[in-house]
Amino acid sequence: MNEHESEKLGGILENMGYIEAENTESADVIVFNTCCIRENAEQRAEGNIGALKKLKKSNKNKIIAVGGCMTQQKGRAELLKKKFPFIDIIFGTHNLADFESLLKRKLETGKSFIEISSDEYSMKECNYVSRKMFPSALVNVMYGCNNFCSYCIVPYVRGRERSRTPENVVNEVKSLVEKGFKEITLLGQNVDSYGKDLTPSIDFADLLKMVNGIDGKFRIRFMSNHPKDVNEKLCNTIKECDKVCNSVHFPIQSGSSKVLKDMNRRYLGIDSMNKIEMMRSIIPNVYVTTDIMVGFPGETEEDFNETLEFTKKARFNGAFTFVYSPRKGTKAAEMPNQVDENVKKERIIKLVDLQNSINLEHSLNAVGKQVTVLFESFNEKDGLLSGRDEGGKVINVYHNKNLIGEFKNVKITKANGITLYGEII
Ligand code: SAH
Ligand code: SF4
Repeated sequence: MNEHESEKLGGILENMGYIEAENTESADVIVFNTCCIRENAEQRAEGNIGALKKLKKSNKNKIIAVGGCMTQQKGRAELLKKKFPFIDIIFGTHNLADFESLLKRKLETGKSFIEISSDEYSMKECNYVSRKMFPSALVNVMYGCNNFCSYCIVPYVRGRERSRTPENVVNEVKSLVEKGFKEITLLGQNVDSYGKDLTPSIDFADLLKMVNGIDGKFRIRFMSNHPKDVNEKLCNTIKECDKVCNSVHFPIQSGSSKVLKDMNRRYLGIDSMNKIEMMRSIIPNVYVTTDIMVGFPGETEEDFNETLEFTKKARFNGAFTFVYSPRKGTKAAEMPNQVDENVKKERIIKLVDLQNSINLEHSLNAVGKQVTVLFESFNEKDGLLSGRDEGGKVINVYHNKNLIGEFKNVKITKANGITLYGEII
């Protein structure tokens, strides 16, 4: 989501006539698109902003702007300005599409300012995108989140769920396919909520069918789903739609029903396991990836062991693993029994080790299999062309770069750890 918003900011700047600078020293305008999902994201942003102090001192005309989730937290913009008075523009998540007028205001008046809208419904669509991921493209289907998982800052900084109309989504995908993009990733904090705010009613499976009906050879991916909402209709749609990848990002967060209840996830461990089994029984060769968090307040050794057991049983095709980070303003930050930092560290190491061993097994099992790869990058140094199979797994082949943006059938011939190599057949 943030990467796509950076593409939008880039698009706005390019439309104004700016070009990408080689480095911060030579840049006229520097825009930080921040994240605040965990504390270390904010620390990194602050570190990078602070590092510009000298540069700004030596060149007062350099414009420094800070936007994104971090600035949208209550009172955060003022604190940032206090800590880094040299920032010229601080703007909120709902002001992104107005960046051109914000920059012009700074250029015309020379004055620094904070512009944070708290009304998500006033947010405009951004008409410019500087796409950086060819042959892949990101497309928002909705903004915001209504789920209020007790640990999560997103609903506070992104507002309530707002779906784009299916016509808007379909038109954007059509124009991307006409331009030669071969992989479209539909984005939403919880894509399963898509359409709940639209009339006539439509759900995410219906939208997938519509996008699948667009002419052309391309792939469709989407993220993220919510375990409470994944249903048989969605699974059957993934199975039936030829362009939709057999791959689902299914963030379980924890294997312990007690922890899940405190997280306000509204499903039990057994529910998400049953849904994984449903996905595997309906969608042929489905890849299931996940997000898992350790160290949520009150997570006991027993709860954590349930997460390990779940992970062992689920055999995810990949997992993003996180240490719980208290976020001011969320319910979980106020909960008693915050877990000791050392215990959190021990747990994340155990979980990562386990998932690494599962990843390795999946890699070894992939050898000898035939997959369809969309090539996306070339490494000059070692002459390797890289692409992804339907599940999103990276496959490398020795070939020149003229296949970037093309689909080819590849036989996987070797696994070096989790890195896979193959031959075009
Ligand atoms: N909407 C998606 C993803 C949200 S953020 C979903 O519901 O899955 C991506 C991941 O960051 C989450 O899945 C969660 O595992 C993690 N995350 C969110 N808040 C966090 C926090 N306070 N501390 C640590 N990890 C967090
Ligand atoms: Fe955060 Fe939960 Fe919404 Fe995901 S579903 S963005 S974790 S509140």
